[in-house]
Amino acid sequence: MITGASSGIGAAAARLFAEEGAAVVLMARREDRLRALEKEIVAAGGRAAVAAGDVTEPAHAERAVATAVETFGRLDAAFNNAGWAVAGTLLHETDDSVFDRIMRVNVHGVWNCMRHQIPAMLASGTGGSIVNTSSVAGLLATGAAAPYIAAKHAVMGLTRAAADEYGDRGIRVNGLIVGSTRTELMDEVLEKTPALETSFTARAIQKRMAEPREVAQAAAWLCSTRASFVTGAAMPVDGGWT
Ligand code: NDP
Repeated sequence: MITGASSGIGAAAARLFAEEGAAVVLMARREDRLRALEKEIVAAGGRAAVAAGDVTEPAHAERAVATAVETFGRLDAAFNNAGWAVAGTLLHETDDSVFDRIMRVNVHGVWNCMRHQIPAMLASGTGGSIVNTSSVAGLLATGAAAPYIAAKHAVMGLTRAAADEYGDRGIRVNGLIVGSTRTELMDEVLEKTPALETSFTARAIQKRMAEPREVAQAAAWLCSTRASFVTGAAMPVDGGWT
């Protein structure tokens, strides 16, 4: 199950996971995009199903988990990646509505998904792996983006709590510390505050942004059994953020 699969990192992950043999359930709000991606994956010989929905709605998260179980037999990996960001505004100048929306999508979204994914994984008897998309903003302050920084810290908190609670029952939970990545979300941020492009690029030792597939590679590894003794980790995919 991949949330935020209609673009950017999530869409890249859907393609990569399917190439590696996973049956993928695609979740996001833009159903037309998910249908097109499903078609592309199936045409390439992969397996995919669409569960269009909003991660802020618990019932939609539940439906996506049910789609995985009903269509493919069980849920053994989840990439909770849907998110939204605003940057470039100081805390006291940021609207309450922005804070609320960022918390709803990034934090409640992960909460809603894990609340339904974990029972499905426990029921399968084979455990599972959950990867939550956090950010360099989930470990430190990255500039004027207080709601996003708070939200991505909370994602790491939920990740560590779940790793701790379910580790002895075969469920691994890890967080991705994602650095600047070329996606629609990044385009949106840079459109409002173009100066951030230079500072974001400068902060990575590699002096560039990531491509979505580079982030997806780390998610694929963490979701797979190759990472069988990795849990509660904050894995950086940030080009060496300093
Ligand atoms: P995109 O804008 O390309 O993708 C965001 C995805 O989240 C879309 O598929 C969008 O789909 C989905 N989404 C947003 N809101 C909801 C919602 N309420 N319910 C369901 N799906 C939703 O950006 P990225 O690929 O960059 O973002 C993926 C993740 O990576 C996010 O969590 C982001 O915070 C994180 N990240 C990104 C960084 C970057 O530099 N790009 C850096 C650090 C972290 P739809 O609109 O169809 O619902």
